Amino acid sequence: MSLPLDCLFCKFVAGTLATEIVAQNERAIAFRDINPQAPVHVLVIPREHYADVATLAAADPQALADLIELAQEVALDEADGEYRLIFNSGPLAGQSVFHVHGHVLGGRKLGWTPA
Ligand code: AMP
Ligand code: ZN
Repeated sequence: MSLPLDCLFCKFVAGTLATEIVAQNERAIAFRDINPQAPVHVLVIPREHYADVATLAAADPQALADLIELAQEVALDEADGEYRLIFNSGPLAGQSVFHVHGHVLGGRKLGWTPA
């Protein structure tokens, strides 16, 4: 697991690395994925560092609720509120950044089968 100081997404939260923040609330920020897989592909992350969604849920359920509220807000703004919210947990599931993030995907008819 990355330590927060080495964590790319912590740097976005701290503002020490630039990214275009598309929405935010007190506990979470949203920014565009650098490698979009759909017309709308936004990542939502808590401002605090947790490795994955289950760790976040156990430690701070309200922060997870706030994260999902932000995902919904982005999806309403950009995809008429129809979207997929994905949390990859662990390398085998495709997690490559170990600061929990939800992928908000939408803007077209989405396929189902994971590659
Ligand atoms: P995951 O594979 O579920 O851990 O998702 C990590 C996501 O972060 C991938 O979809 C990457 O495209 C995305 N990503 C990696 N680096 C950046 C970056 N600098 N800015 C925005 N998104 C990024
Ligand atoms: Zn982090």
